[in-house]
Amino acid sequence: MYLAGLARCNISRFAVRGSMSVVVVKLALMQIGAHVRLDGDPIGFGEKLGADVIQMFVVDPQSWDKPTPHPRTEEIVASPIDVVVHSSYQINVASLNNRLRMPSRNAVAQQAKAAADLGAIGLVVHGGHVRSDAELATGVDNWRKLFERQQDKGGFAVPILIENTAGGNHAMARHFDSIARLWDAVGDFGAGFCLDTCHAWAGGEELIGVVDRIKAITGRIDLVHLNSSRDEFNSGADRHANFADGTIDPQLLAEVCKSADAPVILETPADGVAEDLAYLREHVG
Ligand SMILES: [Zn+2]
Repeated sequence: MYLAGLARCNISRFAVRGSMSVVVVKLALMQIGAHVRLDGDPIGFGEKLGADVIQMFVVDPQSWDKPTPHPRTEEIVASPIDVVVHSSYQINVASLNNRLRMPSRNAVAQQAKAAADLGAIGLVVHGGHVRSDAELATGVDNWRKLFERQQDKGGFAVPILIENTAGGNHAMARHFDSIARLWDAVGDFGAGFCLDTCHAWAGGEELIGVVDRIKAITGRIDLVHLNSSRDEFNSGADRHANFADGTIDPQLLAEVCKSADAPVILETPADGVAEDLAYLREHVG
């Protein structure tokens, strides 16, 4: 843990015997880290970077592979560096196509189990989309069914963190009004939320006040993907950039980091990740 990351005081009041109250000040470390580029040695990657938290895949993200135990499971579980797992990109639980939705459901359950085996705090799953000729409501219902069916099997092994996405007009979690509809369906199942700043910006959602706006919908932010964007506001393009050369004001990114009260993962291009992390240590502390 890095003391430079000491960033917040969480103040809670507890009522004592009705009239008095006690103020408890809890110092919390802001957790900052990055997506792992070296799948074989995730903790080594995190240590070298000075990360408090890392994000990793449990399968080749372009594949439908079933996860196998990570050879360094013991080291990952024992490390003070926290882990979150990002699910594979093929997954689209909203899809109306059975041949995509069914394997997606299985993959979410399998990858959540693999995430639990690594002691991960959650599994990030993109909101997904339906085809342009389909009703958004059907995709929302497919998300509800994902949770409902798994509930009958005892729930997922780790919290599922639904991530907002940047593109398309039939995305489940691009525009915040869509996220509100999605949350009406999945919120009661304990779905978590992952806010990606690049996706929000490129998706056409302003970043000023974004934390309050999304929390008013979901009631929570469990993880932040803090990325700048290569493309302009509302471009619909999902291309991450380092803070120094992206189109988002880095101060705005630092502000999201400060206000979100959640672990922060950089998914920015490898060459500039260390610089992005140093910027946050300096501006968020
Ligand atoms: Zn992301």
